[in-house]
Amino acid sequence: MTTSPGATAATGTRRKARTALVVGGGVAGLTAARDLAAAGLRVTLVEADDHFGGAVGAHEVAGLVLDSGAESFATRSDAVPQLLEDLNLSDRVVSPNPAGSWLYLPEGAMPAPNTGVLGIPADPAASSLRPALGRSGIARARMDRMLPASVGAGEKSLGSLVRARLGARVLERLVTPFVSGVYSTHPDELDVDAVAPGLRAGLREHGSLCAAAGALRAKSPAGANVASLDGGMNQLSERLVRDVESRGVKIVTDYDVIALDRDPRRPGWMVIQRQPQNGDKTAVARGELLVMAADGPTTVRLMGGHLPDSQRYSPKPGPRVALATLVLDCPDLDGAPRGTGLLVSSDVEEVRAKALTHSSAKWAWVQREAGEHRHVLRLSYGRADAGSDTVPPEVALPDGHLISLAISDARTLMGVHIGPEQLVGADVVRWHTALPRTDVGHSKRVNDFRRAIKDVPNVIAVGAWLSGTGLAAVVADTRQQVAKLLRNHGYETPAQRD
Ligand SMILES: Cc1cc2nc3c(=O)[nH]c(=O)nc-3n(C[C@H](O)[C@H](O)[C@H](O)COP(=O)(O)OP(=O)(O)OC[C@H]3O[C@@H](n4cnc5c(N)ncnc54)[C@H](O)[C@@H]3O)c2cc1C
Repeated sequence: MTTSPGATAATGTRRKARTALVVGGGVAGLTAARDLAAAGLRVTLVEADDHFGGAVGAHEVAGLVLDSGAESFATRSDAVPQLLEDLNLSDRVVSPNPAGSWLYLPEGAMPAPNTGVLGIPADPAASSLRPALGRSGIARARMDRMLPASVGAGEKSLGSLVRARLGARVLERLVTPFVSGVYSTHPDELDVDAVAPGLRAGLREHGSLCAAAGALRAKSPAGANVASLDGGMNQLSERLVRDVESRGVKIVTDYDVIALDRDPRRPGWMVIQRQPQNGDKTAVARGELLVMAADGPTTVRLMGGHLPDSQRYSPKPGPRVALATLVLDCPDLDGAPRGTGLLVSSDVEEVRAKALTHSSAKWAWVQREAGEHRHVLRLSYGRADAGSDTVPPEVALPDGHLISLAISDARTLMGVHIGPEQLVGADVVRWHTALPRTDVGHSKRVNDFRRAIKDVPNVIAVGAWLSGTGLAAVVADTRQQVAKLLRNHGYETPAQRD
């Protein structure tokens, strides 16, 4: 392993790094830049897009400013609430309408039963499971408590584990709609240790998958599993940008980092950036410390030359999703006929959406902004069919066609008349790299990558592909990794300072 000019820690004479580079300005990169600047470093943050925030952003539809990507955060840890407090956003935290969500199965719509995690029931005998599972499905699920703990314990995919313990009906009618809605990947392809760390250990401990799911759920605070901000999660990105600017972070947008290398002139790193908007002009930025906060394939490609056998860690590109947002004048939706929205089973043929969020029923602030009888529906496309790596056909549709499909899907899912004449505005947002593909083998690749990057001086990597999807995981992991980097370089961590 080569050593960088700055890697003199072994001798105990390391010079304190004074500058840092952060590549990627999603929530992970922005949080990293903030914590590095708070510790006193001069930071440069480079983002390929023309705006910061990555998957946490805003778009305007019919005069309403709405979330274009993430719309909530999981309340199972205090990582996001702590960051919101640091950013003076705590007073805007809001809970969703407790009405809960629905399922759309081949026989129609029904309220979704309460489950432990990932659609796995905590109590297989609960009567709320009856409509979705039927008698035989419940009888099979209850076998979980009688099977030896070893059954399914060796399965690596969420789908195989659930099928082995609880049967095909729980998998197809509860877990697949949930997982497809969140990860855009079929459970048979999902790495169980990546999406539900602790679930297999819980099975060994409790001897039942339902009990393990219940134990994971019990670790979350009581009440709603998620919360958001009045005005939308996009304010998190906006406030982070303002905060890093006020701390003197040099922020650069529209620069795609295309290569990175050790700085031959001084300790640390240099990145080569290309500006596609400006005739592919290139520029170089330098920093003694480097935080890679881009998606997985980009990070491994850029770090490749500095890691042994980098092909081993390279994640596949993530699933593609498209979100169609409809703003409708539709009094029939005033009563929120499907609670906060629906998750759609992949066995349903008459609807192509994988989920629908009734945003104006879920979040009081959206209803307030929209006004009387006006509703916001957000439909997600990009169903995960097992074994398929191709772009889902709906995601490839032109915007106009996708909006027409969304109107028709919304009518079926909501069970009320919804037609183009009620449409006040619509928008389509497409996400290509924001969701990591957490396929079987992902957690091993992540562990191997983390071990390998530890040997490369003055660099860390953060982001959803390493921490797991979702703001709670991304924020917690980023702050831990940055604190460790700072401690290794003789700094107080931001947590100690704040
Ligand atoms: C549609 C959608 C809905 C979601 N909903 C929720 C939700 O409700 N709740 C929740 O908790 N989570 C949700 N998530 C997940 C959550 O938003 C993400 O896990 C989190 O925002 C990821 O943050 P990140 O910084 O790791 O990655 P990203 O947000 O993807 O940021 C990575 C950044 O790196 C930049 N970049 C990439 N390559 C380069 C390069 N070569 N040079 C410079 N910059 C580069 C990208 O442009 C991007 O801005 C959702 C995700 C999506 C896509």
